[in-house]
Amino acid sequence: MSSQIYINGQFFAEDEAKISVFDHGLLYGDGVFEGIRIYGGNVFLHGEHIDRLYESAKVIRLEIPITKEEMVKAVEETVARNNIDDGYVRLVITRGAGSLGLDIRRTSNPQVIIIAATISLYPEEYYHEGLQLITASTIRNHPQALSPRIKSLNYLNNIMAKIEATDMGCIEALMMNHKGEVSECTGDNIFIIKDKIVKTPPTDAGILEGVTRNAVIKLAREAGYEMQETTLTRHDVYVADECFLTGTAAEVIPVVSIDGRQLGDGKPGPITHELLKLFQELTRSSV
Ligand code: PMP
Repeated sequence: MSSQIYINGQFFAEDEAKISVFDHGLLYGDGVFEGIRIYGGNVFLHGEHIDRLYESAKVIRLEIPITKEEMVKAVEETVARNNIDDGYVRLVITRGAGSLGLDIRRTSNPQVIIIAATISLYPEEYYHEGLQLITASTIRNHPQALSPRIKSLNYLNNIMAKIEATDMGCIEALMMNHKGEVSECTGDNIFIIKDKIVKTPPTDAGILEGVTRNAVIKLAREAGYEMQETTLTRHDVYVADECFLTGTAAEVIPVVSIDGRQLGDGKPGPITHELLKLFQELTRSSV
C-alpha cells in the first residue's frame, strides 16, 4: 500500500505528494529536517527531536508555520495513518517556493512534510561483527560557515565523505573538524572507550548534537562509567580499546577498525555491548 504523506496539514498518496520546483529546499538545500524512530507505535524521544528541529529552524531564520504541539500531533497522526509499529519518521521543513534568487523575503509558504516509513537498519551482521571505518579527507563543515549543529537540508558535506567511505568499501567515514580534531561520522556520532572511560567529542567540536548521543551519555553515566565530552584526535581513536557510533537509524553500532588499525581484539567490546543492551532496553521501555 502506498504511504500517506503529510504536507501542510493534508495527507497525500505517495504519487500525489508534490512540492514546487521553485522551493528553496530543492534549489538551495534551504530548510531543516529530523529523523525520528518509532518503537512499538511510540515516537521515541519525540520532544528532543522536535526541540532540535525548531532550534535548527530558528538559526536559519525559518519560521515553522505550526506550533511544536501541532507538530507533535501531526507526526503522531502520520504514524497512525501509516500503521507504523516499528519504523522511522522523516520531518522536512523547506523554505517554500520563491524566485530563483536567494532572498528569503521572496519566498512564501514553508512546506511541512512528514513521511513515515518502515526502517531499513544496517545489516544485522554489522551489530555482531562491527564496522570498519576510514577517515574521510573531506572535513566537517566549519561551524562558522554552516554549523553542524543545524540539521539542515544541505547534506553535501556529509555526502562527499560518504562517497569516500563507499569507494573504500565502508559504510561510514570518520570526519575531522576544521582544527583536525575528531568530529563525527557522516550520519552518526562517535564514541571511544579507553581504560574504561567513555569519551565523545563535545558539541563545539563541530558535530550534530545527536539525540541518541545524549541518551547514551546519560545511560553510560547511570551505569557508573566515567563519561567525558572531550576533544579527541585521530590518534585517540586508533589506540582506543573500543569504539561505537550512535544515531537514530543506527542506534548503537560497534566499530572494530579504523584506517586499517584494528581496535582491541577486532571484535565489538564489552562496554559497547553493555551500552547497546541498555539502549535497546530504553527503546523497549518507551513502548
Ligand atoms: N551526525 C549527523 C551528521 C547525523 O546526520 C546524525 C543523524 N541524524 C547524527 C549525527 C546522529 O544524530 P541522532 O542521534 O539525533 O540521530
